[in-house]
Amino acid sequence: MAVYTLPELPYDYSELEPVINPQIIELHHDKHHAAYVKGANDTLEQLAEARDNEQWGSINGLEKSLAFHLSGHILHSIYWHNMTGDGGGEPLAADGVGDLADAIAESFGSFAGFKAQLTKAAATTQGSGWGVLAFEPLSGRLIVEQVYDHQGNVGQGATPILVFDAWEHAFYLQYKNQKVDFIDAMWAVVNWQDVAKRYEAAKSRTNALLLAP
Ligand code: MN
Repeated sequence: MAVYTLPELPYDYSELEPVINPQIIELHHDKHHAAYVKGANDTLEQLAEARDNEQWGSINGLEKSLAFHLSGHILHSIYWHNMTGDGGGEPLAADGVGDLADAIAESFGSFAGFKAQLTKAAATTQGSGWGVLAFEPLSGRLIVEQVYDHQGNVGQGATPILVFDAWEHAFYLQYKNQKVDFIDAMWAVVNWQDVAKRYEAAKSRTNALLLAP
């Protein structure tokens, strides 16, 4: 039985227009995300087979494949919920997301500084990658990560709470080669309520995960 399943989109394909057109959302979710789910499940099966047969010749490739597909599944599962047609702006205490706003100001100096850093990190990915805002549990601060593929160039233990997909499949049908324009436009659909929920959940797991008792 499959361990991982493709989650339903939390909205219609047209929800994020005009920032992202419905064709991109449909292909991105139904084909690309689905392929990562299948890849993660297939790789787990191949690893089980390797264990059963004690055949370890492909272990390096399988572990890489697991990291790639599983991370792709996880990042896309966050991505859909990070966006809403009703989003944008910046997190404000008046909207009930004051803790997140404070954490961003403490970790990056200002919202503008954070926005510039995440925009640059996402827009300057070479090849395929992501810009990610993550909660880093050892320091209790937020950090920006520039992720290669789905899984490279990240420190262990940080929890992604806001992710910008900078792969060409995320924007090319609409923005062509203008990745910077796509990343700039993405800010208009950020669901700060969702990001704040993820921030609170990541923070609440900190002590159990990494800090000394
Ligand atoms: Mn993608």
